[in-house]
Amino acid sequence: MANGFKCTKCGECCRNLGNAVVVIFPSDYTPMARGFGVSEHEFREKFTDVLYPATSERLEIRVLKKADDACIFVTPDNLCSVYGFQPIQCQLGPDRYMARSMMHYPCMQAMDEGLIVDTTESDDKLYQQFYLNNDREI
Ligand code: SF4
Ligand code: SF4
Repeated sequence: MANGFKCTKCGECCRNLGNAVVVIFPSDYTPMARGFGVSEHEFREKFTDVLYPATSERLEIRVLKKADDACIFVTPDNLCSVYGFQPIQCQLGPDRYMARSMMHYPCMQAMDEGLIVDTTESDDKLYQQFYLNNDREI
C-alpha cells in the first residue's frame, strides 16, 4: 500500500460496499480459479455476476457476488478469506484503486492529506483489459 496508508481492518471496504463493486479483471481469472481449485469457468459462474454485458467494443465485465452490501468473502472478523489470491482491485485498494470514486473510507484520510498518489493512470490501464484489442479469452 502507498506510503501513508494504514489499514485498521475495519472491514468497511469489504462489508459496506453499497453501490460499489469488486471488478474482476481478465487477469484475475487464472489466479483466483487456481486459488479455489476450480476451472476459470466454474469460478466465473459460482462467484461472479455480470455488471455489464459484452458489447462490440468491450468484453463482458463481471464483479464478485455480494450478500447484501458485503463481499461474499469477508469473514466475521473483517478479514479476507481469499487473501493471497484476492482480485487486483483488492490488492490495490482502496488507496491505489478508485481513489477518485465516490466511495470514501476512513483510512483514506491519508489521501486527503496528499499522501496518496493519483490512481487515474493505473485505473485506466486496468480498464483497458476489457477492450477488445485485448486478446485474452475468458
Ligand atoms: S476501509 Fe480501509 S482501513 Fe478499513 S478494512 Fe478497508 S482498507 Fe482497511
Ligand atoms: S475479496 Fe477479500 S479484500 Fe476483496 S472485497 Fe472481498 S473480502 Fe474484501
